[in-house]
Amino acid sequence: MAGLYFHIPFCFTRCGYCDFYKTTRLEFMDAFLKTLFSEVDHYKEDFNHPLSSIYFGGGTPSLVKGADFAALFAAVKSAYHLQSDAEITIEANPDDLTAEYLDDLLELGFNRISIGIQSFHQRDLQEMGRRHNAQQARNAVELAWQRGFRNIGMDLIYGLPWSSTAYFKQNLEIFTQLPVQHLSAYHLTFEEGTPFHRLLKKGIYQEVSEEDSLEQYHLLRAFTRQKGFEHYELSNFCSPGFRSRHNSSYWNGVPYLGFGPGAHSYFGNTRRWNKSDLNLYLQGDWTKVCEEEQLSEADAFNETLMLGLRTCEGLDLKEMRTRFPKFYATLMEQSSRWISGAALVHENDRLFCTPGSWFVVDGIIEDLFVSE
Ligand code: SF4
Repeated sequence: MAGLYFHIPFCFTRCGYCDFYKTTRLEFMDAFLKTLFSEVDHYKEDFNHPLSSIYFGGGTPSLVKGADFAALFAAVKSAYHLQSDAEITIEANPDDLTAEYLDDLLELGFNRISIGIQSFHQRDLQEMGRRHNAQQARNAVELAWQRGFRNIGMDLIYGLPWSSTAYFKQNLEIFTQLPVQHLSAYHLTFEEGTPFHRLLKKGIYQEVSEEDSLEQYHLLRAFTRQKGFEHYELSNFCSPGFRSRHNSSYWNGVPYLGFGPGAHSYFGNTRRWNKSDLNLYLQGDWTKVCEEEQLSEADAFNETLMLGLRTCEGLDLKEMRTRFPKFYATLMEQSSRWISGAALVHENDRLFCTPGSWFVVDGIIEDLFVSE
């Protein structure tokens, strides 16, 4: 099993909280696609795993026309081994989703769509700088379902400084009424370099209190449970059988190859990434675009630990013993106080978070990290 990730770095506008690599220079789309084709071709010898997933993220992949996707799929199929039942996902902005475009996507073979809703409140959308409105958010999901998508995901953001728990609850109520099978819900973080971070520094925004954050997180868990969703990763919930195969691959250490500026790849013990620079990318000199590193034993341990503890299955201790004998005793010693504090559970040779501690899992993970 393996996956491909395509980073489509174009957006019409910039959302104030976003730190993904993107540009509003849409006039470079054609040149970008041409370079993307050559990148797909360039790495075909390096990566001969059967592909069980392809994911188009961004940026805004729904700015790519159906005809361009068709050509790209033809290039991928001729260069890589795409399994017939592969999960093929597109991230989409609600206002790009017309009936015609959705039909094109289905015809091309997309079988999963992840719609960037973020909120159903007009005030939230305006404050965040999203280009869709509240009605478009709802319509997009319903239209995707009507046209035939049967694996629909949506994103929500909570912990918004100008909002309230009651408002977030209304978002969750709408979510429960919609035909979605997957929800990714993220607490707002003020990433350095974003407009929101500057507003935080100026005191215009304040982080929401820990009590409010926790209350919203518990609401999220309650509403998703009520809809019959499982909470399978820190920020991800789904109907049974609808886990994101592509994202699960990341968490399970499955190899993947990333294309486009800012995209990351992982295979064997190698981590590779393209610099986040569209101008450089367009020159197509892969020796300059691409950087790579070999993971040290401590890096590989920390990454496995981090990914494992963020999932409901937790960390496979048998794997940790076998792969990292040098760090195993330290892991067990360090985790014992989290176990006795009931933040971690040790059961069936696995270590995992309790539902209550998942919200603070990043602090636990940091405490368990090792260095060489
Ligand atoms: S549309 Fe998505 S990628 Fe583009 S700026 Fe907004 S959050 Fe970032």
